[in-house]
Amino acid sequence: MEDRNPFAIAKAQFERFADALNLDPGIRNILREPKRCLIVSIPTKMDDGSIQVFEGFRVQHNVARGPAKGGIRYHPGVTLDEVKALAAWMTWKCAVVNIPYGGAKGGVICNTKKMSRGEIERMTRRFASEISFLIGPDRDIPAPDVYTDPQVMAWIMDTYSMGVGYSAPGVVTGKPIEIGGSEGRAEATGRGAQIVVREAAKALKLPILGSRAAVQGFGNAGSVVAKLLAKDGWKVIAVTDSKGGVHNPKGLAVDALLEYKARTGSVVGYPEADPIDNAKILEIDCELLVPAALENQISAENASRVRARIVAEAANGPTTPAADEILFKNGVFVLPDILCNAGGVTVSYFEWVQDLQAFFWDEGIINEHLERIMVKAFREVYAVAKERNADMRLAAGVVGLGRVAQAQSIRGLWP
Ligand code: NAD
Repeated sequence: MEDRNPFAIAKAQFERFADALNLDPGIRNILREPKRCLIVSIPTKMDDGSIQVFEGFRVQHNVARGPAKGGIRYHPGVTLDEVKALAAWMTWKCAVVNIPYGGAKGGVICNTKKMSRGEIERMTRRFASEISFLIGPDRDIPAPDVYTDPQVMAWIMDTYSMGVGYSAPGVVTGKPIEIGGSEGRAEATGRGAQIVVREAAKALKLPILGSRAAVQGFGNAGSVVAKLLAKDGWKVIAVTDSKGGVHNPKGLAVDALLEYKARTGSVVGYPEADPIDNAKILEIDCELLVPAALENQISAENASRVRARIVAEAANGPTTPAADEILFKNGVFVLPDILCNAGGVTVSYFEWVQDLQAFFWDEGIINEHLERIMVKAFREVYAVAKERNADMRLAAGVVGLGRVAQAQSIRGLWP
């Protein structure tokens, strides 16, 4: 049985990238482990007056290239190892798109589906204050991830600002526009994925018009990808969320589906479609598969049944190393997470720059910059993949880890 511990997977990927780069053993030792891990307990007053204590984490993996950057996840399955893995992926990702950040991630073990808005707010504020000595506009800047949203970012920004005594919008990204959020941030992860998918289709000479796409996960990342793919001419034939999914070989009307999910809380039951589950969608006959939910979805067990030509990882860590090998052998072109979903952190970077300068750009400029950065990153990674006759994950790792290792060695070791 394959090891599904996300940090074991992140480390196995790291060793592969480091081998390909023939990395200096000292630098390898530094970059293998996170720089800092903080575990906090988060006592929270619940609506019934009782006190529940949640466990939360903030991990800073590496800051050689700039302040730490990474989302905060609220999910019952969060573990320290998952957060460590997500933090490491952030380090490589920021370097792949060449933005001046290191990698971090945070998480709280909780089930927000069973909590009221007030309970989520109190837990968030206490978590923000427990990690407040690590975060800050110059140090470590959180953002949304699974089951956290702009409102959660607003509470973190407010809590941190109360502590320092002035408004510090640059402490988080993915905020509401009204308090220093950026145009284009809500769609950025999906838009970045759309751009690299378009580049990949061009490189592979796969016609987009009428080609079929399936999207697992219909949240911030997945729903936007689905919408933008449909705009580009892909036929979106299946989508799922945590409750199940829908399939129509003739194509789904994504805008109507979005409206249906907003109204009912799930895509399940959407008319004019057959039900499909989260395992089956991965094996569906299509040209493009977009995992946009959680880790370890494509593994040694099901990888040989993936029929798509392109797998675009909007989610972090959806493919295990054993699955990577199988997909590569079968000619499936994988756009790896550290490239494919980097549009989110890229526009987060724009948001932070705008906050620090107190000077805001319009959406056209943001999307233009995003397009330029994503296309450049795709081309750089694709060139390495071709040159080495390797998969795109290795190529992205070589680009990302290569840049981090360079920064680390130029800075030298203190003391
Ligand atoms: P989200 O909370 O907005 O949405 C999560 C979606 O996944 C929901 O539709 C939910 O129903 C679905 N889901 C949950 N459990 C599932 C399961 N077991 N099977 C199938 N679907 C399931 O979260 P998000 O921000 O869209 O994050 C999704 C993925 O994208 C994560 O891996 C995250 O790390 C990654 N990501 C997000 C961003 C971002 O900007 N939000 C950026 C980069 C990467």
